[in-house]
Amino acid sequence: MYNFFIDFFMLLLPFGEKEYALNPSKIICLGKNYAAHAREMKSEVPREPIIFLKPPSSLIGPNDKVILPPMSREVHHEVELAVIIGKNGKNIPQDEAMEHILGYTILLDITARDIQSVARERGLPWTVSKGFDTFAPVGPRIVAAVGIDPHNVEIGLKVNGEIRQRSNTSNMLFKIPQLIEYISSIMTLESGDIIATGTPEGVGKIEHGDVIEAWIEGIGILKVHVV
Ligand code: MG
Repeated sequence: MYNFFIDFFMLLLPFGEKEYALNPSKIICLGKNYAAHAREMKSEVPREPIIFLKPPSSLIGPNDKVILPPMSREVHHEVELAVIIGKNGKNIPQDEAMEHILGYTILLDITARDIQSVARERGLPWTVSKGFDTFAPVGPRIVAAVGIDPHNVEIGLKVNGEIRQRSNTSNMLFKIPQLIEYISSIMTLESGDIIATGTPEGVGKIEHGDVIEAWIEGIGILKVHVV
């Protein structure tokens, strides 16, 4: 049976010798999970994880186009390590968390910063600023969980060849097992779901015509175009 919804959002990423069809029920993102980024946002370091959702309709793949929405004057890049869930779970304890991971990729948490700033001032949700179509590029491939130490890899981002963000995932405040325990205490994590683990410092504006290249050591380079 033809299923328009499934097909429409289907995104294939290389995964070992095969391809993996990315079709998450949800994309869970971390706010302020690197202290240096919390500082540049003039925020406190959080005591417990701050989470929000991006809609699966915001996903695009490698070499796709990020479309700047007319509603915003200031759209920012945020490079993040993304966890792909491989096994459903609810109330997953930290010591079992890694068993629920299929692998890792890069996710760009594209953000309409001006819209987010107004929302923050007014105590409103971040949904609009984070949820536009094309605001979640992922790729270039999924690396199996056994193939990488997710808490000790270089993470960075270039715009038009110039380095804007460069850090190491060892600087994450809340580590992946803690995140999985916390998130799964609230919502069931389902196979295919994506957890974006937060961005390091150096976020900044992107403009029409920019080329973004995000990298994570051991995963590769995710390149997208801004239009
Ligand atoms: Mg982010």
